[in-house]
Amino acid sequence: MTLQSVLDEIAQRPGAGERIQIINPATEELIADFADGGAEAVNEAVDRARASFDSGVWSHLPGNERAKVLWRVADLIDQHAADLAEIDSFNTGMPYMQANMITSTCAEMFRYYAGWCTKLEGIAHDVQQTGGITGAFSNMHAYTLKEPYGVVGLIFPWNGPIFNFCAKLAPSLAAGCSSVVKPAEETPLSALLLVRILQRAGIPEGVVNLVTGYGHTAGAALAEHPGVDKIAFTGSTEIGKRIVQASAGNLKRVTLELGGKSPVLIYDDADLGMATTMASMGIFIHSGQGCICGSRIFAHRKVYDQVVESVATMADSVQLGGPKDENAMIGPLISEKQLGRVMGYIDEGKRDGVEVVTGGHRLDRRGYFVHPTVLTDVDPGMRLYQQEIFGPVVAVLPFDDDDEVVAQANNSDYGLAATVWTRDISRAHRLAKRIQSGTVTLNCQMVFDHSMPFGGYKQSGWGYEWGRAGVESYLQTKTVYAQL
Ligand code: NAD
Repeated sequence: MTLQSVLDEIAQRPGAGERIQIINPATEELIADFADGGAEAVNEAVDRARASFDSGVWSHLPGNERAKVLWRVADLIDQHAADLAEIDSFNTGMPYMQANMITSTCAEMFRYYAGWCTKLEGIAHDVQQTGGITGAFSNMHAYTLKEPYGVVGLIFPWNGPIFNFCAKLAPSLAAGCSSVVKPAEETPLSALLLVRILQRAGIPEGVVNLVTGYGHTAGAALAEHPGVDKIAFTGSTEIGKRIVQASAGNLKRVTLELGGKSPVLIYDDADLGMATTMASMGIFIHSGQGCICGSRIFAHRKVYDQVVESVATMADSVQLGGPKDENAMIGPLISEKQLGRVMGYIDEGKRDGVEVVTGGHRLDRRGYFVHPTVLTDVDPGMRLYQQEIFGPVVAVLPFDDDDEVVAQANNSDYGLAATVWTRDISRAHRLAKRIQSGTVTLNCQMVFDHSMPFGGYKQSGWGYEWGRAGVESYLQTKTVYAQL
């Protein structure tokens, strides 16, 4: 029922641009098509956002009142969890169970940031300086105010549509910002339902404004719009660089959550059963379409053969299928384009002499399914080793000692996530210090907590989401000096 109603709604969204097709990745069938909103929709949305921000209807609402509304959003997300999960699994092809798990974290995200609404405080200070002009004044104090940036543009990809939306929206609302939101053109459906939820929860008119369209039209117009104060972007490093360039016109603040090529280190003293299971899930889950997927596994030479065999066995045993296949653990790639990209990397590897231990081909069925793929004999100079594939493809490489594996792990332009499996706890913490990565997990993988910051080193990002850092990224600091 709700799925049908969002399908009806998307088909009627206004826009003069070309019609964009939404394809079911598990069946290759047309789900719906909708008009590209383009620059015109962005201009209107920015005007609405600016009017709402300047009116103070949300930005000046006391923190405890904002908090109550965010709690209502969370409760309504819980109430509609099944609908949201159904829409996202249908649209992305991911198993329903997985979509359901992701949706439940969205409600918690709103509850977490509801707590911050009443804690956005600055500092107070007795002015100590005696020299210069300041010294001419006596009995002074100073304090800081935390103020919302204003109108923020939220742009995110298709790999976890509702999660990516909430990860940006909840802290931006807690900070008091108004927003213009552009989901990925492949997966705009759950955003429509979330916007209805926001209205029911009492988010005032004009505070959150949805624009649907392509990245190179609507997204680009948002990134360069002079009326936008900040862009919070999640997506590829390539587009992240374009966002930075487009933002230069009015020196927008920019935060970026970008790609990764995450290393997983497995030592010979690790719990190998757990390590290889998690390392396999850590790359094959969601068909490798996760920013933190561990796409390079480094196995100590003593256990290298065992690790390759275990990961290959997992690759062959996980069940692939669409949202309606009850036993499916892994869904398809999002699009024909993504399929072509992933197969392109695999074919290039084959030409370069990489050994395909298992996989390396698409499934002989409808849908953009690629058999989970394990590669060995991958050279660090290869694109396969260096570039983010965003597919179910892992390279397994041997190592002999800490220095060697740290150098290999850090041999990347990316630095998003890393994992170490070893029973030597001191070594684990030493490695956590040496690996250049925004997140390091020790004897666990794919774990997160909304209260901890998440962000990338090197070309994996700018700034942080989640935790205090997440809400602070939507706030600017004003310093006030006063003579008493
Ligand atoms: P993408 O960069 O192609 O697109 C992301 C979003 O940007 C989409 O909404 C798209 O429409 C928009 N966009 C495209 N061109 C644009 C432009 N010129 N100006 C403004 N917006 C534009 O990314 P993708 O292929 O859709 O998603 C996969 C990427 O996202 C991977 O690189 C993955 O690692 C990354 N990702 C990162 C995180 C993280 O938290 N670090 C999380 C999820 C995904």
